[in-house]
Amino acid sequence: MSVPQVLLTAALPAEQRTRLAAVASVTAWQEVHDPSPADLIEIVPEMDGLLTVLSDPVDASVIAAARRLRVVANRAVGYDNVDVGALTARRVPLGNTPGVLTEATADLTMALILAVARRIVATATAARAGEWQSTWDRTSPYGFALTEPGIELHGQTLGIVGLGRIGTAVAARATGFGMRVVAFSPREVSGVERVTLDDLLRSCDVVSLNVPLSETTRHLIGARELALMRRDAILVNTARGDVVDQDALVDALRSGQLAGAGLDVTTPEPLPAEHPLLGFPQCVVLPHIGSVTFRARQRMAELAVDTLLAGLAGQPLPHCVNPEVYQT
Ligand code: NAP
Repeated sequence: MSVPQVLLTAALPAEQRTRLAAVASVTAWQEVHDPSPADLIEIVPEMDGLLTVLSDPVDASVIAAARRLRVVANRAVGYDNVDVGALTARRVPLGNTPGVLTEATADLTMALILAVARRIVATATAARAGEWQSTWDRTSPYGFALTEPGIELHGQTLGIVGLGRIGTAVAARATGFGMRVVAFSPREVSGVERVTLDDLLRSCDVVSLNVPLSETTRHLIGARELALMRRDAILVNTARGDVVDQDALVDALRSGQLAGAGLDVTTPEPLPAEHPLLGFPQCVVLPHIGSVTFRARQRMAELAVDTLLAGLAGQPLPHCVNPEVYQT
């Protein structure tokens, strides 16, 4: 049998690249920018496997062009960049990397909640600019020179939309902070009260979005949902930008309908520098760094290579998104 050909769209740690090169001929996407569908269509016809990242558009046109394709390993837990239906129709398994980035993303979610609740970015930015805002303003009854005081998390209610791996890890952290946790999610998780989405939005001090992006979760939080939220509430999104109607979020922040927002994910990414979300002091925007820890990225690379090698060998993938491809 000929040596399988695989496309690597982003660099791998040397150890993982060596594992891959031991069984396959590796073609690497060398550009810094993301490949377009047209770029991929040129490369994929000879490929048996693709090792992709979340900004690679593996759409129906790319899949149709990949005539020899036997496996796709997406180095992310989300796979909204891949046309899963088109892969399944071709009986090509898709693997992702769940679990290994759960703790890193849950940490980042808590960091965003704290950053918005305690105005960390706005006050740190002011301090750097030489505008030190004293913590004891002797002329103010509470001693705040800060325009707005922060919000204490202890005793507040966190609403988790999507109580899966990351949502559950966020719930554990929030409980440690003395927060009450409720969730809107299809499945029961012991110890967490489930409520309707509307009740969650109406009652929670902090709302954390932890659902995958799908046709049912696209713009799950729009103008109607934002209007249900309390004016002193905070919205945190570490899921995918399109789970929120971003124009409606801008309106809610501008009108004071919402106290603040913390976003690790936006539409598009990168968000243009002139985007209004980057101008609100009560909004913290991060460049999608949920899984950016050495440990998480190392384990994601290892799991993605495990996935690709399993697929090339005709074995079940460690985490298969479309297991129906194995049904006879
Ligand atoms: P997961 O374990 O699959 O959790 C997702 C949860 O959402 C599941 O409990 C799922 O329920 C629930 N859900 C699905 N559709 C829903 C809906 N319409 N309404 C309410 N709940 C719904 O996935 P995960 O590992 O926690 O990851 C979640 C998402 O986080 C990923 O898909 C990815 O987009 C994002 N993420 C972002 C970063 C980052 O860097 N910011 C890093 C990792 C992941 P069922 O299982 O019952 O369907």
